[in-house]
Amino acid sequence: QSGTLETNVDVLIIGAGPAGLMAAASLAHLTAVPSSSPLAVRIIDKRSTKIFSGQADGLQCRSLEIFDSLGFADRAWKEANHMIEICMWNPDASGVIQRSDRIPDTIVGLSRFQQIVLHQGRIERFFLDNIQKYSGGAIKVERGILPTSLEIGEERVKVRVRRLTEEQAAPPQVRTGSKSESTDGLFRSNLVGDDYEDQNITHQSDGEEEVINARFVIGCDGARSWTRRALGPEFELQGEATDFIWGVMDIIPITDFPDIRMRCAIHSANDGSLMVIPRENRLVRLYIQLKEVTPDASGRADRSKITPELIFGAAQKILKPYKIDYEYCDWWTAYQIGQRISPSFSHPSNKVFLAGDAVHTHSPKAGQGMNVSMQDSFNLTWKVGLVAKGICHPRILDTYQSERRRVAQDLIEFDHKFSRLFSGRPAKDVMDAEGVSMAEFKEAFLKGNLFASGLSVDYGPSSLVVKSGDPGELGDRSDRSRKLEGVHKITDEAFRAKQALAKGLPVGMRVNSFKVLNQACARPWHFQERLKADGRFRVVLFAGNILDQTQKQRVKAFCDKLSSPSGFLRQATPEGAKVDSVIEVLTIHSAKRTETELLTDFPDILHPFDPRTGWDYNKVFVDDESYHEGFGDAYHNYGVDKERGCVVAVRPDQYVGWIGELEDFDQLQEYFEGILVL
Ligand code: FAD
Repeated sequence: QSGTLETNVDVLIIGAGPAGLMAAASLAHLTAVPSSSPLAVRIIDKRSTKIFSGQADGLQCRSLEIFDSLGFADRAWKEANHMIEICMWNPDASGVIQRSDRIPDTIVGLSRFQQIVLHQGRIERFFLDNIQKYSGGAIKVERGILPTSLEIGEERVKVRVRRLTEEQAAPPQVRTGSKSESTDGLFRSNLVGDDYEDQNITHQSDGEEEVINARFVIGCDGARSWTRRALGPEFELQGEATDFIWGVMDIIPITDFPDIRMRCAIHSANDGSLMVIPRENRLVRLYIQLKEVTPDASGRADRSKITPELIFGAAQKILKPYKIDYEYCDWWTAYQIGQRISPSFSHPSNKVFLAGDAVHTHSPKAGQGMNVSMQDSFNLTWKVGLVAKGICHPRILDTYQSERRRVAQDLIEFDHKFSRLFSGRPAKDVMDAEGVSMAEFKEAFLKGNLFASGLSVDYGPSSLVVKSGDPGELGDRSDRSRKLEGVHKITDEAFRAKQALAKGLPVGMRVNSFKVLNQACARPWHFQERLKADGRFRVVLFAGNILDQTQKQRVKAFCDKLSSPSGFLRQATPEGAKVDSVIEVLTIHSAKRTETELLTDFPDILHPFDPRTGWDYNKVFVDDESYHEGFGDAYHNYGVDKERGCVVAVRPDQYVGWIGELEDFDQLQEYFEGILVL
């Protein structure tokens, strides 16, 4: 069409929910990595506003670690309600609910963060502020914009979009005349058919049009993803729905139930189950099983029958003999439990990707959707950004599908089991085979807590992860049943030997955090705090006992190769850029801090000199006692030999990619040659 505005971008993100905002934020953080021109990124959303209440609220440990690497975990940590204990309530022999068990909400010692709860609207706010700060205002969510067609070309993806009116972009609300003027989230519930929401706006042809030519498109447009549908039927979600219907209410409760400020899993004898999630600002979220609402012949429940009164009535029954009421309801919704996943997360061209609810949906009770969705796009965007900048080989884009689809599959399996245990009737005794055993439920909860934390994610072998094992297929579709390109080969035996150098840093998993001290100023740091999400790879040199002369020679020999013009470090650094702009070298040694000197005991490359700013004092750390914050015992916790040390390559998303001896420089060189355009 002549006269239509046409623009070019590097990355177009469709959808500004948690997955899309994470994508935009992590792309904004890539500014530290040099490129000939800044990345052009746009993010569009058909809605006129962000979320203000309701929806997701649980933030898991891994998400908080990621927020910290982006610089805003402290905001969430301060504002949120902290989840410390889970109480299990079950019927006793006479059918009356009683507290039967308590377990810690987060497994002790798993992370420096524990699960917290804060509503999605605040989290979206933190993202928006962060994107503004790190992009210098260049990336802004453009609201009220609807994509209408997508065409994948040789070089670029052509996306046609249309600007909506205020009215078209506002989410529809069901007004029920209930106690308080709360907003409802039914418009995003899976009880609403796929086309319901868009049918009013897609068929109107008014509104300004634009064609956006993007090198990469990331579809983060939720469970009813337009991008997914535009890619074709082979991307459709597959899976099943159950007959279990649940309601959700965010209220300020007035009750005599003693554990209302604890996370509770309550199974009543005959009236269904309830989950209590204590929230910020006196709010409590109730997930309530609606036993009286069942799906019709089409498999879907009639959403017009679901009101806050009906949902709350069910909660009152489950909680009997305790009483509960409310004056203020902040938000409510209902959903039907089901687990669905797309066969493919990326188009074979590796130009269009899908993330978050667009490719996996499940029940919200385990607090996974937002977390896994954000973690999807966090996994993807540094790869897309570094390929767009010409720093990384496009082949690394294959690993998005191979890494994240596996996580989503695990999530679906977990949710399948968990939600059935939750929605089932408690067993009366061991002979009651149809009932749910409460011992099994507790066991699933305990195991589920590790999975739910996001810290059990273990990526398989690929161009980015050097380990033995099966790299897996790129997807389930026949045209994609090829193995990953450029996978580094290593035998099981050789890998076991390398992994033994740092048992506490499993290759393929995220770097855990222990405190170390800055060699130059003695300040304690959680080591993970030094692994910012700025797009840089890191080589972590565990320099061992640097005071031992043999070890000092080993460190020197490693650093000589590192400093060489033909080594990966210099080769990866663009002309005129700082030597740490693509790969940063960080050192942790195990000698006494007070017996070692930064400038004389450590080769220059470990604390590079800049003519304008002098030596870099922020790259060498020591595993030693601090004055005020104890001893992190990092070598012990990472399972590294205090005398000999080792070398670890860490990806920009904090996952361990490679482990070797100080003499294995050539293998490290090979690792980076497989990833970077040197
Ligand atoms: P969404 O949040 O759905 O965002 C998609 C965005 O894309 C929206 O802004 C939408 O307006 C936009 N969009 C849609 N279509 C288009 C289009 N055609 N063009 C442009 N833009 C479009 N998860 C947790 O982790 N923890 C929890 O405790 C939790 N609790 C939940 C409770 C409830 C009641 C519900 C309903 C969900 C809960 N979830 C929870 C799940 C969580 O909300 C989702 O998994 C998460 O929001 C997914 O993020 P997303 O960015 O992929 O998609």
